Amino acid sequence: MHLTCNQEIVGSNPTGGLFLDGVNVMNIILIGPQGSGKGVLGRHLNSKYGFSPISSGDVLRQEMDKGTKLGKKIADIINKGNLFPDELTLELIDKKIRNARSGFILDGFPRNLNQAKLLESYLEKLDKKIDLVLLVDVPESVSLFRLAGRWQCKNFGEIYNTKTIPPKIHGICDKCGKALYQREDETEDAIKERLKIYHEKTEPLIKYYKEKGLLKVIDGSGTPKEVLKHAVDVIESLK
Ligand code: AMP
Repeated sequence: MHLTCNQEIVGSNPTGGLFLDGVNVMNIILIGPQGSGKGVLGRHLNSKYGFSPISSGDVLRQEMDKGTKLGKKIADIINKGNLFPDELTLELIDKKIRNARSGFILDGFPRNLNQAKLLESYLEKLDKKIDLVLLVDVPESVSLFRLAGRWQCKNFGEIYNTKTIPPKIHGICDKCGKALYQREDETEDAIKERLKIYHEKTEPLIKYYKEKGLLKVIDGSGTPKEVLKHAVDVIESLK
């Protein structure tokens, strides 16, 4: 397993996380169905190790909220649960990947084989590479249960769940005190379409990354703390 080492930032993590001994920078892809907890896991890994979480869905939603022509085009596509064009999605997360000097955790990208190949040649040009692909495995019943109660903060993208990770005050973000919202693509029809696309287009990535020797599977059905522990065990095992 290749671990990228950036001597410049040894012991001084700009995001405040702890660096692992001998593992300064890791670039990770999270794969898993909607509601598997990738977003929450990405945030927890960021707190622990300082790897920057990059969610293509969050980046698209932020663009959508600007109400620009591009934002309206995005809304038309994502509110139905369909995929935004591959190259354009990569262009939108490009800056975040370039800026992630202490490693990154990609959540939601790549979502199909074409995106995986685009990412590979793009990273090659930046002299970066993927070190680990974590499949967050949950049964569909758990996914659906979590999606039904999911609320999010627009400010920091903090994720809550009325049943499993409730905010201290209903409808209000613990971190910033602003109102939480439910996503427009979390209607029954859009969720069905998103899960269908996951099975058809995203699941083939499991075989793709397994063949490259990068894939590790963790059980995503426990509490956020338990899922973090599984991920940390994998990361530590790569030291
Ligand atoms: P997510 O927040 O990852 O569930 O993504 C929400 C929606 O954003 C998806 O259902 C897609 O419409 C769009 N989206 C997110 N990531 C991608 C991607 N890598 N490629 C194309 N569309 C994406």
